[in-house]
Amino acid sequence: MPDPALHATSTTERGSFCTARCACGWRGPARRARSQARTDAERHVSEAGDGPRPEHPVE
Ligand SMILES: [Zn+2]
Repeated sequence: MPDPALHATSTTERGSFCTARCACGWRGPARRARSQARTDAERHVSEAGDGPRPEHPVE
């Protein structure tokens, strides 16, 4: 069961660029528009939620 908290995204502005980041460690490309960075983040979350799940080692 996917945990939405695992993919809490935010955007970070650096200079005139904006980058989307995720709590899982993912980072989007630097964008000039914050709306574009947000789109990157939304796509990441939807792909992470719908795509094949990474296998978690069980120990
Ligand atoms: Zn993520």
